[in-house]
Amino acid sequence: MKQELVPLAGGELNRAAHLRGKASVMRGQMDALVLPVWRGHVPTDAEGALALIAAERFEAAQAYEVFLGLLPGGQPVFARDVSVFAPLVADEEAAPPSPWSTAGVAFQEFEGLIFRDLRAVMTTLTPLEAEMAGTARGLFEWHRSHGFCAACGVKTEMSQAGWQRECPACSASHFPRTDPVVIMLVTHGNSVLLGRNENWPERMYSLLAGFVEPGEPIEAAVRREVYEEAGVRVGKVSYVTSQPWPFPASLMLGCRAEALSTEIIIDPVEIEDARWVRREELARAMVGLHEDIAPARKGAIAQVLMAKWLADDWE
Ligand SMILES: [Zn+2]
Repeated sequence: MKQELVPLAGGELNRAAHLRGKASVMRGQMDALVLPVWRGHVPTDAEGALALIAAERFEAAQAYEVFLGLLPGGQPVFARDVSVFAPLVADEEAAPPSPWSTAGVAFQEFEGLIFRDLRAVMTTLTPLEAEMAGTARGLFEWHRSHGFCAACGVKTEMSQAGWQRECPACSASHFPRTDPVVIMLVTHGNSVLLGRNENWPERMYSLLAGFVEPGEPIEAAVRREVYEEAGVRVGKVSYVTSQPWPFPASLMLGCRAEALSTEIIIDPVEIEDARWVRREELARAMVGLHEDIAPARKGAIAQVLMAKWLADDWE
């Protein structure tokens, strides 16, 4: 299917990996740009475009910057972690970031820009903008949570313009991790299997999903997760499309699956509820007209898969 239909799955960024070793030279170029990222929030301007700022406005500081790649015009673009900046409204600083928040944060240093959680703006950014923002967010999350060597415990150092960390004690190299997650549209005739997690907004239902385990192929992960969470047996599984989901480090593998059984026995540890939803009901839910099912997050791959099923469009 067309990747550009899936937010965060643009695939247009020229990552120019061969230049990562020369990032300091790229950083010194007159036309170099920087994407500031504050605690996972990314800036947009008054038109809603992702804000890239002239790199010369910031003192180069390797520890805070990663090299994202080259823009179509050839300009080098970096992302910079500005999490130490204090927002103009102090309450925002104290509030724990919520995955559902659309609240904006402003800074004296970035006049006219509003920083929001990437999930709140991913559907309005261009595919290239969303990919840059998602890549930056994923990398910074990794650096934030992987500061010590997994082999010997010593503090590691960023290298390759943010794409590796090196251990000074045991020489181990560490690479940014991405965790595969299967998310599946399980159908039985005219019905789709939806579930809800207790941490989600009220009444929201979505597709079942779960992490792929070591040694496990995608198809087996789909069958195992659906059986574990809902007690439903699944037969045929096919892959549809993917969506990077750097919150903090997932790659969503969107699949279709055909149910062999319909009785639902939920695992209350994993999900709060699961139910079969008829096609007509889902259509109403997706436009917010269902009395007890709120739609899945706009732009998330679950919503993309559901829309494709409703339209019977698997191109
Ligand atoms: Zn080490």
